[in-house]
Amino acid sequence: MLFALMDCNNFYVSCERAFNPTLEKKPVIVLSNNDGCIISRSSEAKQLSIPMGAPFYQWKAFCVKHQVQVFSSNYELYGDMSQRVMSLLTEFNHNTEIYSIDEAFLLLSTKTSFDELSKLRHTIKMCTGIPISIGVGSTKTLAKIANQMAKTLASGVFFHADQDDYLTRFSVDKIWGVGRRLAAKLNQLNIDTAQQLKDADPEIIRLHFNVTLEKTVRELKGTPCLTLESTQPRKQIISSRSFGKPVTALSDLEEAVSHYMSIAAKKLRSQQSAAQAVYVFLQTNVFKDRLPQYGNGATYPLSAPTSDTRDLISAAKACLRKIYRKTYQYNKAGVMLLDIAPAKTQQYDLLSPVLDDKSSRVMQTIDTINHHLGKNTLFIAAEGITRSWLIKSDKRSLRYTTRWGELPIVFC
Ligand SMILES: [Mg+2]
Repeated sequence: MLFALMDCNNFYVSCERAFNPTLEKKPVIVLSNNDGCIISRSSEAKQLSIPMGAPFYQWKAFCVKHQVQVFSSNYELYGDMSQRVMSLLTEFNHNTEIYSIDEAFLLLSTKTSFDELSKLRHTIKMCTGIPISIGVGSTKTLAKIANQMAKTLASGVFFHADQDDYLTRFSVDKIWGVGRRLAAKLNQLNIDTAQQLKDADPEIIRLHFNVTLEKTVRELKGTPCLTLESTQPRKQIISSRSFGKPVTALSDLEEAVSHYMSIAAKKLRSQQSAAQAVYVFLQTNVFKDRLPQYGNGATYPLSAPTSDTRDLISAAKACLRKIYRKTYQYNKAGVMLLDIAPAKTQQYDLLSPVLDDKSSRVMQTIDTINHHLGKNTLFIAAEGITRSWLIKSDKRSLRYTTRWGELPIVFC
C-alpha cells in the first residue's frame, strides 16, 4: 500500500483566482475574520516577504505600495470549493481521509502510476480551477514530506520521499507533527534533518520524548503506524465569531447567538445527531484592557434530545439571559452543542414529547430549500434581518458558487 497526500496550493488565494483570472501572476493575500491577519498568500506575495499570520494593519501601506490584491475571507466560497475538490478525489479513490479544508490523505495500491496521479491533478484543475500537489510515500509522514517536494515541481506530483538524499536536505522542524519546540530539543541531540531522525533509535526517542515521536521515526523508516481515519461524527459542535463592532444591547446578542445556533444546528442535523445540552458564552475584548472586562458562560440541559433549531435557539436565549450584564461592550459570543448522540438511538424523557416527526420534517424542508436556493434563503426570525453585529468583510469577493444573486457574469 502507498499513502498520498493531496494539498491544494495556496487554497484561499486559488479560490479567489478561480473566479477572477486577472489575479493570476499578481501578489494576492486573504485575511482572517474581521480582516485581522494574513492567512493565505500567493507565491508572488511570498516573494515580497509578506509573512504568514502577520496582522494586516502592519502591512497595509506595504500592500498599497506593491499593489497587492487584498481579500477578506469568503468561507462560504472556500467551503464549497473544498467540497468540489474532495468529491472529485473520492470519485478517484474511495479510501480517502479529508484531513482539513484543503488536504486529504489517500490510500493507493502499489500499482498506482505517476501518470494516473498527474491525470487526477489535471482533472481537479480543469473542473474546479484549483491547483493541487500530490506527494506519495509508504507512510503518511513520508507522503507529507513528498507533498512539500511536489509543491516545488512543475509536475506537482512527487513519488517516494524515502530517498535518503532528499531526507538529508529536509529540515527536522518541517516534519509533520514535529514543530519548532520539539525541533529545538532534537537539534540539541544533533538531529537536524529528517534523515538523522530516521536513523535515530525509536526506543531512545520514546524515552527522551514520547510515543508520538517514536511513531514518526518508524514512519520515516517506512513502517506505517498511522492509518486512514474515517470521519467520525463530532461529539461537540461549536459556532462562535467575533463581532464586526462592539455590541452592548441584549437584543443584538440574542440575534447573534440565535444565528450561531442555527449554523450549529444544521451541522448537527447533517451528521444525523441530536444534542442534549446547550452552552452559550460571551466575552468583552481582552485586548482593550482599559475598558471594563467581563466574560461568562452558561449551560442549559434539554429535557429531550433535539436537533430542532427552534428549540435550540430558545435554550440558547435562556442561557444568554442568565449571563448577560448591561453596560459591557462585548466583542465575541458563541454556542456549543453538548452531549451529542445519534438521533435514532436517543433516550427520551418519559414526561417530554418525543422528537416528533413534524419537527424533523420542518427542519428537513428548511435544509433542502437552503441547499438548493442558497444559504439563509429561509432562516429563523430570531436570527435578525439587518444583523449590525456581523463581522467586517469589506474586501470579500462574491460567493460565486452558493448564491444565485452572486453568480459570475460572463460577457460574450
Ligand atoms: Mg494548502
